[in-house]
Amino acid sequence: MSKSYYEILGVSKDASAEAIKKAYRKLAMKYHPDRNQGDTEAEEKFKEAAEAYEVLSDAQKRRIYDTYGKEGLRSSGYSGPGSSEDIFSHINDLFGDLFGFGGGRARRRDPNAPVQGEDLRYDIRISFMEAVHGVNRQVEVTKRETCWTCEGSGARPGHRPQVCPMCQGRGQVVRSQGFFQVTTTCPRCHGAGQVITDPCTDCQGEGLVNRSKKVSIRIPAGVDTGSRMRLAGEGEGGRRGGPSGDLYVVIHVDEHEHFQRDGQTIYLRLPVSMVRAALGCEADVPTIHGTTKLKIPAGSQSGERFVLRGEGVPSLRGGGRGDMVVEIQVQTPTKLTKEQKQLLREFEDFSKEQEEEGFFSRLFHGNLGKQKKKSGDQEKVANA
Ligand SMILES: [Zn+2]
Ligand SMILES: [Zn+2]
Repeated sequence: MSKSYYEILGVSKDASAEAIKKAYRKLAMKYHPDRNQGDTEAEEKFKEAAEAYEVLSDAQKRRIYDTYGKEGLRSSGYSGPGSSEDIFSHINDLFGDLFGFGGGRARRRDPNAPVQGEDLRYDIRISFMEAVHGVNRQVEVTKRETCWTCEGSGARPGHRPQVCPMCQGRGQVVRSQGFFQVTTTCPRCHGAGQVITDPCTDCQGEGLVNRSKKVSIRIPAGVDTGSRMRLAGEGEGGRRGGPSGDLYVVIHVDEHEHFQRDGQTIYLRLPVSMVRAALGCEADVPTIHGTTKLKIPAGSQSGERFVLRGEGVPSLRGGGRGDMVVEIQVQTPTKLTKEQKQLLREFEDFSKEQEEEGFFSRLFHGNLGKQKKKSGDQEKVANA
């Protein structure tokens, strides 16, 4: 069995965010590849710790992990173990310039290298039936896209970015502080190693422009609140020829007036008249797919449940439909005509013989009957 993230970091399950950070920092220092050249076991430990920290340092991911484990993280759309790029971005968050001496991997990146665009999140609200049957939606997403005028370079066409005069293209500057030499990101070019002397007028040298774009989204049948879809390349544009980020669409499903849903199962409360429940009937039942017939046997009681196989929600993975559970609710009539009242009284008279052998008769003739004889009706039954 693999170790839990808590075991990897050597902290208890209720460790504070601060304690988790501290534990990870210790491990990362110990197993950092710059200190353990060619030691594959250290590298493995380093990656393991980074993966554990990635999850436990994020309150939401930690909650999912605590409840559902690694599988839960995967099914909530959080990709599994971070790429090595992710690992090093954590390192930089934590240590800042501490690793400046050896240089975290991220710091050694070529400042002229293409940069991938940011991922975007788009929350979309759909109706209950749209979630059940799937729907095509066109949404307008406003995002920063690559500026076509300068092709994302930020420099005015015909002009090339110049090597930064402050750091000579290194992206870092070295300052002396007492006995120490401190390496910091170049304040002039912000680490890019180059400066734009003639900025592109369309994007003011950013390399990106705000643009709204219509994106078609095919939402498959069976999604539920919290379902996520990844639209590759529909995020923000990249710079200097880098690829675009991804667009994550997060689904929110409205409730239905009558149907309720739990995963693939649909629940419905079906009103049935007192008479139909007593005599039995074949009821028309609305389903999420149309209507169907349900045989309700004579003498059915309120709260009884019937399962209609295959009348539930289709599986997202294409494994058939779930079931539908119908709970009947026997309706007692409230507005009776004179004739109906008369019929019910006759019905009651006919029922008396049956009742005497039944539950109430036994109850009244038993111990309870002696104390509870109060109203005239009860008296009649009890003395009959
Ligand atoms: Zn431009
Ligand atoms: Zn510079």
